Amino acid sequence: MEMKGRVRDAKQPVEKRVKNFNEVALGYTEEQAVSEASRCLQCKKAPCVKGCPVEIDIPGFIKNIKERKFQDALEIIYKTNLLPAICGRVCPQETQCEILCTLSKKGQPVAIGKLERYVADRGEQQLNCSILKGKNITDTKVAVIGSGPAGLTCAVELAKCGIKVTIFEALHSPGGVLTYGIPEFRLPKEIVKKEIETVKKLGVEIKTDVIIGKTLTIDDLFNDNYKAIFIGSGAGLPSFMGIPGENLLRVYSANEFLTRVNLMKGYLFPEYDTPVTTGDRVAVIGGGNVAMDSARSALRLGAKEVIVLYRRTEKEMPAREEEVEHAMEEGIKFIFLVQPIEIIGDENGYVKGIKLIHNKLGEPDESGRRRPVPIEGSEEIIPVDCVIVAIGQNPSPLIPSTYKNLKTGKKGNIIVNEETGETNIPGIFAGGDIATGAATVISAMGMGRKAAQSIMKYLENQVKTEKKG
Ligand code: FAD
Ligand code: SF4
Ligand code: SF4
Repeated sequence: MEMKGRVRDAKQPVEKRVKNFNEVALGYTEEQAVSEASRCLQCKKAPCVKGCPVEIDIPGFIKNIKERKFQDALEIIYKTNLLPAICGRVCPQETQCEILCTLSKKGQPVAIGKLERYVADRGEQQLNCSILKGKNITDTKVAVIGSGPAGLTCAVELAKCGIKVTIFEALHSPGGVLTYGIPEFRLPKEIVKKEIETVKKLGVEIKTDVIIGKTLTIDDLFNDNYKAIFIGSGAGLPSFMGIPGENLLRVYSANEFLTRVNLMKGYLFPEYDTPVTTGDRVAVIGGGNVAMDSARSALRLGAKEVIVLYRRTEKEMPAREEEVEHAMEEGIKFIFLVQPIEIIGDENGYVKGIKLIHNKLGEPDESGRRRPVPIEGSEEIIPVDCVIVAIGQNPSPLIPSTYKNLKTGKKGNIIVNEETGETNIPGIFAGGDIATGAATVISAMGMGRKAAQSIMKYLENQVKTEKKG
């Protein structure tokens, strides 16, 4: 029997999309969603579910799409994931749920992420979902630090159990990387806002502009009767290369560049007052999602040429395949097997070029990828007006540095029990990028969920101990 191919959704045409920040992938129509859902074999053991860190009942929701019972499909997803419109868009599905799909053995896996997005985007069912109704909030208080995917998920799971949750967020807008990092053309901010509103409907309170470690301390939270604390403060500290010229004008960390674009709406300057300038030729250093987002944002801001410089080959690039494909379609250039060794400035302190050395691939390193080895005498200078450094982020240092008793790892990550999210301090839990270093939205959500389950156990034990005492 011939296997039916995967249904592809429409995309904004390249010529149009490089001139705007609107979403590129347009998602399924109802007919496309039903047709894609009908490819699912409804496997009894559902291997796909094992690839989902929040364990969505994937065959369950897909069956309902096939039968056009969209409300029921959403109810199933909401049981374990209150951010499906976000996950459906940015989850690395190809290495999570979809890689384990039975169909991928012989052809293309079911487009699980796109189906999840479809159900979430229908929206009108949201208000009727049983999960958002009838919760009994107790007076037990838990504080969550950070409103990224880890914090939001932990808060949701606790709120479902009737806990009074307050999220403290340093920035003026909640969402973490979903809001300040991932650009509008991949994840529209209206979608993030809408899913955060759903979280609030569960009774979760979000206090923005509160920096824990500055505005309030962890001890202040315990003194204010918060019975447990979850830290989901992310990996917001950019890495630099440590090469000459990184202090020149128009050298940005990807974090700063994307925050200016996304959060401060730099692309609407002068309507909004945070300018972000790139000049004509932009070099982006790195090969992950952050590098692709920076390159594609620079193009949309008006750069004439954007070049991604990556030290290994295309095969080793950590960015999602779909994002690399979109970047290439949009005309982003790639130079592989090169490593910057100096950024060169003009007499006014602005970037005018970047000096590179070419690499060859050597033996595999600890990540299993072949190590780039510089080729002596292969240096060259290419003229550029702007350099965006997207070589990784480290755990945000403020909380560990102001609450010294917390045990941290070599890279400044908070050390946790991976199964429970417990730190070395009773009552303090952590998860997401602050614990793992820069990872993914869904792994942060998975950790937030597990931590919420152990916070509930911790609170129950506290009550038992109090009763005994
Ligand atoms: P974050 O999302 O970083 O949220 C942490 C929050 O804590 C922030 O809002 C921060 O302001 C707040 N905070 C920090 N310190 C304090 C404090 N002291 N007090 C109060 N609040 C504080 N992953 C994917 O799965 N798919 C993708 O396509 C993808 N693309 C990405 C693109 C970019 C540009 C970036 C930067 C990352 C991308 N990632 C992607 C990674 C993913 O976004 C992160 O792994 C995920 O957001 C981590 O979630 P988190 O909740 O741990 O932290
Ligand atoms: Fe797959 Fe992510 Fe959806 Fe889970 S949340 S089913 S991993 S796309
Ligand atoms: Fe459907 Fe694939 Fe999951 Fe089987 S493994 S239930 S085909 S999505």
